[in-house]
Order: sequence, then C-alpha cells, then structure tokens
Amino acid sequence: MKALVYEAPWQMPLREVADPEPQSGEVIVAVRAVGVCGSDVHGFTGSTGRRIPPMIMGHEFSGEVSAVGAGVSGWQPGARVTVLPTISCGACANCRAGLPNICLNRSGLGMMTTDGAYAEAVRVPARQLYPLPAEVSWEAGAMVEPLAVGMHAANLTPIQLMDTVLIFGAGTIGLLTLMAVRLKGAGKIIVTDLSPHRLEVARRLGADVTVNPREADLAAAVHEHAGPSGAPVVIEAVGAAATARQSLELVRPGGHVTWIGNSQPMIEINMPSIVTREITIRGAYAFNREFGDAIEAIRSGSVDVMALVEDVLPLAEGPRVVTELAKGQLDAIKIVLKP
Ligand SMILES: [Zn+2]
Ligand SMILES: [Zn+2]
Repeated sequence: MKALVYEAPWQMPLREVADPEPQSGEVIVAVRAVGVCGSDVHGFTGSTGRRIPPMIMGHEFSGEVSAVGAGVSGWQPGARVTVLPTISCGACANCRAGLPNICLNRSGLGMMTTDGAYAEAVRVPARQLYPLPAEVSWEAGAMVEPLAVGMHAANLTPIQLMDTVLIFGAGTIGLLTLMAVRLKGAGKIIVTDLSPHRLEVARRLGADVTVNPREADLAAAVHEHAGPSGAPVVIEAVGAAATARQSLELVRPGGHVTWIGNSQPMIEINMPSIVTREITIRGAYAFNREFGDAIEAIRSGSVDVMALVEDVLPLAEGPRVVTELAKGQLDAIKIVLKP
C-alpha cells in the first residue's frame, strides 16, 4: 500500500510499504479521510519528540473496515467507522477512575512509534472503533477527533450561562472549542489570533468579538467586552509562552484558565498573581466520552465541522502540505487527505 512515511525531520515521502495484517483483536481500516493535525506538523519538524521516525502519522480519520482479525466480533468488512486514536490500558488507576485520556500507559495511533492513517490502510485494535453514521461524510468523520478535543476542554471548564469566554487561537482546536462553549451556554465569545483569515472564520462560526493583536490592543478589547477585571473564562489553544502568559493576565480574579495548546515546553509565569487572585489553571488533553458525543454533535448538526475543512487533497499532496504548514506558508485551518 501507499503511505506517507515520516523518515526524519522534514522528510515524509510517499512510499510503497507492506500491507498491514490484523493481529488478534484487531481490524484493518481502509482510510477514506484523514485530517492533518498541528501536532503532526510540529512532529514533522522534529521539535516535539512526539513522533519518532520511522513511522506513519495520522490520527484524525474515518474509513471502512477491510479485514477482521481473529477474536473480533461485531465488526464486518464494509463497516463505516471512525477511530478513537488514543489507546489506554484499561487497568491503571486512571483508567479505572474513568480517565482513559490520561492513562498511565497510554499510546496512540499515529503517535510516537505507532503507525497511523497517512496511508491507504491502518491496523487498529477493534475496541477503538466507533460506527460512523451514514449521514456523516468521510471528511466530517475525520473531524470527530479534533471536535472531541474541543468538547473535552469545554466540559472540563466551569462555564456559567452567559459567561464571557476569551479564546486564544482560531486554529482547528480553538474554533471547535468556540463551537463547544457556545453549545455549553457561553455569553460573549472573544477570539484572538494573528491571522485575519482565521478570525474571519471565527466570526462566521459565532465569535462575537475578534481581536488581531497586530492591529488592536487585546487587553483593551477584553476590558471593554468582559469588564475591567478581565474574562471569567479563558481558553488557550495556541501553546506558546506569550499567549499562555496573557491567558493568566486577562482572566478575572477567581476565574478559570484552560490550556489546550501544547507545543512550548517551558514557560515563565507570575506565581503570586495566580495565588493572590485565586486563578484556576487546568490542562485539557484528548477526550473521554466526548469522542462518541462528537459523532452525535456532527450527525445532529449541532456543530458545523465542515466549515473548518478548507481543502481536501490526495494523500500524495501530504508532504507538500505539511511542509508548507510547518514553514507557515499555508493559512488553511483544516486540510483533509484522501488516500
Ligand atoms: Zn490532532
Ligand atoms: Zn490505563
């Protein structure tokens, strides 16, 4: 089969590789659509250490079951599926506490050394499969995973009806979180990003206020729309030191800050200002029940994920697209590849 093989930083050519064979308890999924994720782009540059070559990336995907291994029941070839890519052990303290997203032995398809879906087919433990309803397209099926990330962040964050929410970052996750906090009853939503294009999409998706810090004073805008003491709820979906720091500066005393962005490893923060203002900072990682809920949110039309899919391209275009995204030459929000 054909696959994009991540061989070394900045090198991910289309190669002919051996067809995957299902082991016991596994199926093969013929990939119909796979989203290009920012974490893959960061992995591609070798900057995060979360993709270890040689391997095949790709964890946001939908497809059709094409082969079923021994001991798998309930799945037949031809079944339309989307795949929960984070793999938990089911036995550790966190799994037993209902928190498989932070499993102490977690791994993931298309992460570290495990092959993912930038390929014509991928080997998947059967328990990771979710049925994809007929009315959800392959492309929308590839958006289930990032939507689940946004919904998980919204679920973890205490939001009262009509709370003003400030969101840093109008990339895929920032925008999906915007839709999720809207569903949860947020009041005014303020979105900030450096890209005019992304801010325009944010407005289309229901942001009340958008701020480009290159053109306007973000703090002044927050004070104008959320009040002089800041926003009660702030979500960081960039993963950079500057925005993480601003998320703490612009939250109201007693407020909640949720960090989803996760690229910059070390940042400096003002500890007394967190303590004396009783700020709650929390990390949000992956998802639990939100994966199934995201399928239903898309199926029912509660969330328009296709508004974020700006290009659908053949797998062979993947190396060019990922390179351009890594160099900052491409401003597309979500690109979906079709093997
Ligand atoms: Zn992702
Ligand atoms: Zn576990």
